[in-house]
Amino acid sequence: MENKMQIFNTLTRKVESFIPHTDGKVNMYTCGPTVYHFAHIGNLRSYIMEDVLEKSLRYAGYDVKRVMNITDVGHLASDADTGEDKMLKGAKREHKTVMEIADFYTKAFFSDCEKLNIKRPDVVEPATNCISEFIHMIETLLNEGYAYVAGENVYFDTSKLKDYYVFSSQSEKELMVGVREDVSEDKNKRNKSDFVLWFTKSKFDNQELKWESPWGVGYPGWHIECSCIGIKHLGEYMDIHCGGVDNIFPHHTNEIAQSEAYLGHKWCNYWFHVHHLNDKSGKMSKSKGDFLTVSLLEEKGYHPLVYRMFCLQSHYRKPLEFSYEVMDNMENSYQKLRKSIAKLDDTTEFEPDKFDEYKSKFLDAILDDLNTSMALTVAYEVLKADMSDKTKTELLKSFDTVLSLDLLAGEIPVDNGVDADFEAYILDKIEERKAAKKDKDFAKADAIRGELLEKGIILEDTREGVKWKKA
Ligand code: AMP
Ligand code: ZN
Repeated sequence: MENKMQIFNTLTRKVESFIPHTDGKVNMYTCGPTVYHFAHIGNLRSYIMEDVLEKSLRYAGYDVKRVMNITDVGHLASDADTGEDKMLKGAKREHKTVMEIADFYTKAFFSDCEKLNIKRPDVVEPATNCISEFIHMIETLLNEGYAYVAGENVYFDTSKLKDYYVFSSQSEKELMVGVREDVSEDKNKRNKSDFVLWFTKSKFDNQELKWESPWGVGYPGWHIECSCIGIKHLGEYMDIHCGGVDNIFPHHTNEIAQSEAYLGHKWCNYWFHVHHLNDKSGKMSKSKGDFLTVSLLEEKGYHPLVYRMFCLQSHYRKPLEFSYEVMDNMENSYQKLRKSIAKLDDTTEFEPDKFDEYKSKFLDAILDDLNTSMALTVAYEVLKADMSDKTKTELLKSFDTVLSLDLLAGEIPVDNGVDADFEAYILDKIEERKAAKKDKDFAKADAIRGELLEKGIILEDTREGVKWKKA
């Protein structure tokens, strides 16, 4: 029997009990990356929290099927169907073909995910694999009167719906947050909120990827891909659909419009949105040019899982501001945590009652609208609690199936920039100096310090003992 999760639903703007269509099973969909550039750590905040959601649902006893698309066509510079296709922009920037760009950045995305312990969804489907399905859905929408052809593009007619702005209590103005760049008006549209299902030549005739269709050679709009790929792999009923808050409008609003018009019934009951990661100058975005990636964090010496812990410390529905100061603190806490866990004695007796008590505390935290910072607090409580080391190890192992912080992987080896033999030599010299000082032979102690300095090593006497660093 699975445990019920309380989750904030953007559709109702309330925290609700999560009840999937089929007992014990969850159909979950995640909007995948637009693979024209590296993912920035803001994008990855969304994927980390969606990963925690999936793992929490599994921890609570659900059988989860998770599907993700890869946007390799159709996502224009503005979410409101204007500007250049982002993929084409990436290809031009790097003097490569669109498919080369897609292949390169899809691999880069999954490599980042691996570093952050983000599980690969059960199904990953690139949009360019599903052109015939998109055409079929668009034909159905045209036949049912929900779409029209104008200026050689096919548009969805939002006036045919009783309720287009389904994320209802948000004002139209608020929803426009998702429209990222300047919006130039498209004269073909019957209503301002109509959106493109299929582009033919229109003004985008430099598009590299094009396919035959009943409306001429062209390519799909961005929104249609998630509706189609979702329905293709999860059927007519989806339980939970995820993305960053910028996806609420227009992307998810349009997905709902076309999917429900196509299916003739409600499509997805719960909508999960992760708030943005910001830097000091505002929202992190790929179009800003200079953005933070996992590789950049690694170059600066951070373990990628420090960033995962940084994300878990804060609630997914709050904006999060990135700073190196917080990352430095996090790095210390993370290293300390792994060190303390490494010291636990695994040969002690297991205490099932304590295990159940703390497991249920952890479960309560994640089932409470994914309270990940509380879940981490429970992990710290376990370390301090009065129970055997074996019980602690088993609990932390269990929590880590959700947190995915490699908690039991031991202390992180610190790359101090010297090889093992030289490090052993330095440590010997430090011991020799310690002995000299004990014998009050300060001349010898100073000579050792000087000897090491000549070899590029600085010694520091601290309250915790002698420390060394490269000069
Ligand atoms: P994209 O590759 O631009 O299609 O975005 C991939 C995912 O990252 C989407 O779910 C976006 O909503 C999400 N996203 C974009 N910017 C941010 C940000 N600064 N913080 C968190 N998530 C973001
Ligand atoms: Zn999507």
